[in-house]
Amino acid sequence: MLSFLANILFAVVFIWLFIDVLTSDSAKPSFINVLLMFGFLAYAYFTYRFVYKPLHSLPSTRIVKAPDFLISTNQFNAELELFRPTDYNIARITEYTSTCPICDSKVELDYGKPDRSYYMVGRCRGDPHAHVYSFDRMLMKGYFLGHGGYFDH
Ligand SMILES: [Zn+2]
Repeated sequence: MLSFLANILFAVVFIWLFIDVLTSDSAKPSFINVLLMFGFLAYAYFTYRFVYKPLHSLPSTRIVKAPDFLISTNQFNAELELFRPTDYNIARITEYTSTCPICDSKVELDYGKPDRSYYMVGRCRGDPHAHVYSFDRMLMKGYFLGHGGYFDH
């Protein structure tokens, strides 16, 4: 929620500066105004890339990491998913967690890229790149994606 308010504040400041440059009397904008306009473009790109583009993929992927403005301030991990109990899609905020059978740390859902081919995987907080699990949200099941030798004692 705080990052969402910060995004709005940055957007208002950058839009105000952009309008100020366009409406100024001088023919040549100052260096700081040009720098701020490029900052605005970078801000707009990163906001689209990391906040709104994942939301656009929600109808096809059915689950995405919930953006900060949809979750409460004391929550750091949540998913936004579509489910279909009837003929209609319903969006809901959920948090899927489990316990890692290897190290007993908490396993949270995360994007599989760049190291896994699955869209969403369960990543252990203790070792997020070695203790990785698949996740089937319809069956609420998953399996270890590493070598089976981890479970030999
Ligand atoms: Zn683990």
